[in-house]
Amino acid sequence: MNNKGSKTKVGQDKSELVAKLPMACADERSAIEFFEKQRWGDTPCCPECGDTDVYQMKDRDGNRQKNCRWRCRGCGKQYTWRTGTVMEDSRIPAHNWAYGFWRAATSKKGVSALEIKRHTGLSYKSALFLMHRIRFAMAPTDGGPKLTGTVEADETFVGGKPRKRTPQKPFGKPGQEPSNAQTMKDRKTPVFGVVSRETGEVRARVLPDVKAHNLKAACDELIDKSAKLMTDEAMAYRTIGKAYAGHETVTHGRGEYVRGDVTTNTIEGFWSLLKRGVYGTFHNVSRAHLQRYVDELEFRYNHRKLEDGQRTLAAIAGGEGKRLMYCDPI
Ligand SMILES: [Zn+2]
Repeated sequence: MNNKGSKTKVGQDKSELVAKLPMACADERSAIEFFEKQRWGDTPCCPECGDTDVYQMKDRDGNRQKNCRWRCRGCGKQYTWRTGTVMEDSRIPAHNWAYGFWRAATSKKGVSALEIKRHTGLSYKSALFLMHRIRFAMAPTDGGPKLTGTVEADETFVGGKPRKRTPQKPFGKPGQEPSNAQTMKDRKTPVFGVVSRETGEVRARVLPDVKAHNLKAACDELIDKSAKLMTDEAMAYRTIGKAYAGHETVTHGRGEYVRGDVTTNTIEGFWSLLKRGVYGTFHNVSRAHLQRYVDELEFRYNHRKLEDGQRTLAAIAGGEGKRLMYCDPI
C-alpha cells in the first residue's frame, strides 16, 4: 500500500497540532511526537516504501527507544521523523528544529543564526546549519507555478558595503581601479521579482546582473505568457513585454508611479520588506546566501494570510522530500 506523502490535512487536526507547538519548542519528546503527528497524522507510514504496517521500536524495558526509531514490516527498514526531510543527517535536537521553524515562519524580518544560537544554546555553526535547512524547506519546489493575470515585474539592488572615501585616481589610465561609485554598484546584488495582483503571490530570484537576456530568462521562468505585464520604462522590458498578452509601463524617470491601474507599487512593497530584513536583521547578506533569504521572505509573504501556527506547519511540510536535493552552502 502506497501512502507516501500522507499528511495531516484536516483543519481540526491542524489546530490541535498548532496548540502543541509551544511545548514542542521546549521538550524533546513532545517535539518528536509533534513532528511525527505533523508528518503522518494518525496513520504512520514508512518513508521508504509507504507501507503502513510499521511499529515503534522498544528498548529492553518495553519503553519507546530514546531516539524514537520506527521499523517497517514491509521493507524491513528503520527510520525516524527525520528520515527524508531537511532535518536528516543532523544531531540537532527536535525541539530546536521546532523552535527554528516557528521563528523563521513567524518573524516579520526573518531570524538570524546568531539569534537562534542565543535562544537555543546551539553552537553558531549548528544554528547556521539549522537556518539554512529551514530556508531550504521554505523554498518553493520547482520554483512554483508561473504567475498569471496582471503581473508586476521589477528589479532591485541589495547589499553592498558602506561607501568609503578614498582619493580618486585620475581617469583614463590603463589598469585603473573603478571609481567608488562603480565599486559600490558592483557589490550590490540584483534581485528580480514578480507579483500577481489577483493571487497576491510573489516570486523573486537573485540574478547575476540585469542584462536583457537574464531579465528575459527570469520572466520566461516566472510569468505565464497570458499575463498582462506591468513594468517601469526600462528598455529591456519593451522587448520582453511583446511576448505577453499585454504590457503597460510607468515612467519612473518622469516621476510617474501610478497611471490608472498601471503601477509597480505592489512589487516595490515587497522590495521594501526585503531591504528592511537585509539591512535590519542581517546587516549584510552574501550573494550566495541572498537567494535563501529571498526564498524565506517569499514564503512568509505568500503565506501571509495564514495564522502563525499554520504558517509554521506549512514550512515544516515543505521540508519533506527535499533531503536528496539539498546541497549545503559553503
Ligand atoms: Zn517500508
